[in-house]
Amino acid sequence: MRDVTAFQQRHQVGEGTYGSVFVYSDKVTGEIVALKRINTKAEENGFPLTAIREMKILKALNHENIVRLKEVVTSKDSGDIPKDVFMVFEYLEYDLTGIIQTKEIKIRADHIKSWSHQLLKGVQYMHINKIVHRDLKASNLLINRRGELKIADWGLARSWNPEMNRLTNRVVTLWYRPPELLLGCMKYSTKIDMWSVGCIIAEMFLREGLLKGNNESHQLDLIFGMMGHPSTADWPNIHTMCPLWKNYEPSNGNESLPRKLRDEVKTRLPTVAMPWMTPHALDMIDNMLVHNPDKRWSAAQALTAEWFFDIPMVKPASQLNMQF
Ligand code: ADP
Repeated sequence: MRDVTAFQQRHQVGEGTYGSVFVYSDKVTGEIVALKRINTKAEENGFPLTAIREMKILKALNHENIVRLKEVVTSKDSGDIPKDVFMVFEYLEYDLTGIIQTKEIKIRADHIKSWSHQLLKGVQYMHINKIVHRDLKASNLLINRRGELKIADWGLARSWNPEMNRLTNRVVTLWYRPPELLLGCMKYSTKIDMWSVGCIIAEMFLREGLLKGNNESHQLDLIFGMMGHPSTADWPNIHTMCPLWKNYEPSNGNESLPRKLRDEVKTRLPTVAMPWMTPHALDMIDNMLVHNPDKRWSAAQALTAEWFFDIPMVKPASQLNMQF
């Protein structure tokens, strides 16, 4: 294992939940990299589990739309005992939240289509490999000057199989969290990531978060307000799957709750605020924001959406104008 002194520190870029991220350059090759320092001191139980998971999963994944973990290095005290551990990543200049929030940056239809396609390819690859990310959001999508989008921050990711039935539902940042998790489901699937993808793609059009809840019940209200209430006709196993659903059922003293059913697609999203939105784009987003995870589109299905075959056709990253 190489030592961190193989790199020259340049500046800090981000503060993560379990460490800080710095830009370094490789002293031999001059390559610019991002080093994430794992904060072991703040951890009572030694090396943080999230970091171990992130390293294990990233070592197994190899895809152009997933941030590459190049190596792991340590720093040493005067002795030989490792003091700090750093994950060395390829460096990407932007994150999607920064791009969305910088009004001077003109995001056009071809950016949105290409980044959506790249995101879906990365998600399809991880789901084929039975990994669920569990924290997809605009700020965890990194973009480089070549227009390539890569999924980052794998601290909440885990391997998944359909038999798992006691998974924690306290995952996924609130605005991107699907209804099954908000309703207490512990036997969920890779489809939780697809709800987040639907929110992220809508956010690129809207240039702000789609469902910006303040707490879990507010988030559900926003979902029900926009997408309608789930029904047992649409989601037959909602009772067994979601322990908290009983609190929202009309038969449980909630008769007075205004029941809103799923509206027609085009009335649901605030399309006036989305200059590049087309009926096919809307149709794809709509199929990801489906309450019942079994009916929600997978990444493989979304990649065949008509929108990607409409003119302008989806462009490779190399053809995007990144002169912001
Ligand atoms: P945490 O898991 O601790 O939240 P992240 O992996 O999300 O940490 O990293 C925190 C921040 O550091 C990110 O939001 C991003 O701004 C920056 N960052 C992380 N990885 C890279 C990278 N490979 N290139 C450039 N910036 C990065």
